Amino acid sequence: MSNNKPMPVPTEISAPFWEGLKAERLLIQQCNACQHWVFYPRRHCPSCLAHDLSWRDVGGGASLYSFTVARIATLPDFADEMPQKLAVVELDEGVRINTTLVGLDEEEIRIGMRLQPVFAEADEKGTRLLRFTGMDNDAKSLGRLPAKAAEAVGDAAPTPAPRLIALDDEAALQSLVSDEFSTWSDELVVDQPLIDAFAALSGDDYWIHTDPERARKDSPFGGTIAHGALVQVLQSRLTLTLGFEITGFSTMVNYGSDRLRFPAPVPAGSRIHLRARVKNVARVKSGTQLTLEMNTHVVGSERPSVINDLVILYMQ
Ligand SMILES: [Zn+2]
Repeated sequence: MSNNKPMPVPTEISAPFWEGLKAERLLIQQCNACQHWVFYPRRHCPSCLAHDLSWRDVGGGASLYSFTVARIATLPDFADEMPQKLAVVELDEGVRINTTLVGLDEEEIRIGMRLQPVFAEADEKGTRLLRFTGMDNDAKSLGRLPAKAAEAVGDAAPTPAPRLIALDDEAALQSLVSDEFSTWSDELVVDQPLIDAFAALSGDDYWIHTDPERARKDSPFGGTIAHGALVQVLQSRLTLTLGFEITGFSTMVNYGSDRLRFPAPVPAGSRIHLRARVKNVARVKSGTQLTLEMNTHVVGSERPSVINDLVILYMQ
């Protein structure tokens, strides 16, 4: 299964909804002035404009208001979910929610049918998405990550708890400095749509990145390649297990990079992964600088595509 699916980004206003899903609870806002139920999450009541909303647990009873069957994935990452049953579901409280139906065949789906919520696991961090299914289905098992069952049998050793290191413990901090790299992060596909999105965002739409036709003929790489800067920022999308966690600081900022190199190309469609090591720890006037050498490689390739000596500044 692809692990590149876009995940919800909770905002200050919507966070209680996402936290609720994690705990397998459906929380919807209600206006304390006029009792109107509100979804999506907002600061004010759309009915009476009062700014007095409370989050309440609701039972999840719902009916199907509308649906469509999508046969072409909106993003390549959703190819494993095709055909997707995209639906508008009306909760018994009256609010409507855009969602996906799961565990139902096309022939079983009827407008007005009764539905129950599925708190679908979306990643290993506990994020859950709100799906719906028919009343006869087992919502619990439909909510489980498909990968989980397989992993339970296989090699998924539990990640050991990180070593906690206090910022004022000089010896412990220095002991982190090592020539040894961490284990590899998870993997990410750098595909053409992602490269195109970055080209639009950055304004760098040079053909070597964006024109597969021309790149096939004229590029020394036989196709388009990702921008070095794109591969660099994708380091944020990869999950590293460093084995330690610094404690006892008030703020942590990205101070920049001591060295940034792009030694090897990342052809469109490549999978990348990342590993890192602590290269240096130094006390400076404004705090403590920890330099992490972060190397991104195309999976299977010895030569890194990005070398980034990232300097993190911890302030007490
Ligand atoms: Zn109201």
